[in-house]
Amino acid sequence: MQPTILWMEMTWPELKQAAADRRILFFVVGSVEQHGPHLPTGVDAFLPMAIAERAARRVNGVVAPCASYGYKSLLRAGGGPHFPGSIGLRGATVIAMVADIMSQLIQQGWRRIVVLDWHLENVPFVFEGVDEAVRGSGCAEELKVVKIDNPNGLGVSTQPGLMADLFGEDFPGWAVEHASIWETSAMLAAFPELVREDRIEDGTPPQPFDYDVLPSPKDGAPASGIFWKATRASREKGERILSAVVDGIVAVIEKEFGA
Ligand code: ZN
Ligand code: MN
Repeated sequence: MQPTILWMEMTWPELKQAAADRRILFFVVGSVEQHGPHLPTGVDAFLPMAIAERAARRVNGVVAPCASYGYKSLLRAGGGPHFPGSIGLRGATVIAMVADIMSQLIQQGWRRIVVLDWHLENVPFVFEGVDEAVRGSGCAEELKVVKIDNPNGLGVSTQPGLMADLFGEDFPGWAVEHASIWETSAMLAAFPELVREDRIEDGTPPQPFDYDVLPSPKDGAPASGIFWKATRASREKGERILSAVVDGIVAVIEKEFGA
C-alpha cells in the first residue's frame, strides 16, 4: 500500500512523525457556494484539495483536513448570499476557525505550513486567523507559514500562451471567472463525474461590478450563477490549468522552504 498523504487517513503516530520530520503541511480553506447549475457547491473545497494533493505528492507533504466553510458569498465574486446552497460564515467566525486550527497545528509541531485559500471573499479573514495563530505561538522556532490566495493566476498567467488559449482576447478578470472557463475546465479535469455538462451555458458579470450595494440586490447576479463563458471550458484546458497551478505552488514552496 502506497503511504497516504491525507491527514484524515493517517494515524496519530504517523502524523507525529511527519511533523517531527518537518514535512510540509497543506491547509486548505474553501467555501460552500453556488457555482452555477453545472458545478457542485463544493468547487472551492474540491479543487484546492485536489491541487494540494498533487503538490503534496511532489514535495512529500501532508494535506490537512479542509476547512470547507468560508466567508459569505458576495455578489461581485460569487453571486451573493441569496442563492440556495451557498452557506457563509461571518468574518469573526472565519478568523476564529482558522486561528483555532492553525494554533493546534503549530502546537503539534508543524513548522512548514502552506495555507491555500481558494475563496476570494476569505482573503483578509484567513490572513487574520493565521496571523493570530502565528503571533500566539510566540513565533515558534523554525515556524514559517506561506499563504497562497485564490491562486487561479499563479502558474497560469506566467505560462507562455496559456492565458490566451484559455480566455481568448477578452479576459474579464478573475472575479468574473466564477463558475466559468477556469473552474469548469479544472472540474472537468479533476472531477468529471461531478460536472453536469448539459447544464453548461454562458453567463454575464454581476451588476454592479465596481462597487457594493447593501442589502445585496437580488437580481444583481445572473440567474444561472455563471458569470462568464463557461461554454469555452474543456477538460484539456483543465489539465493544463491544474498542472500549471501545481507547478506554480511547487515553485513557491521550493523558493520559501527550499524543499
Ligand atoms: Zn469558486
Ligand atoms: Mn468562491
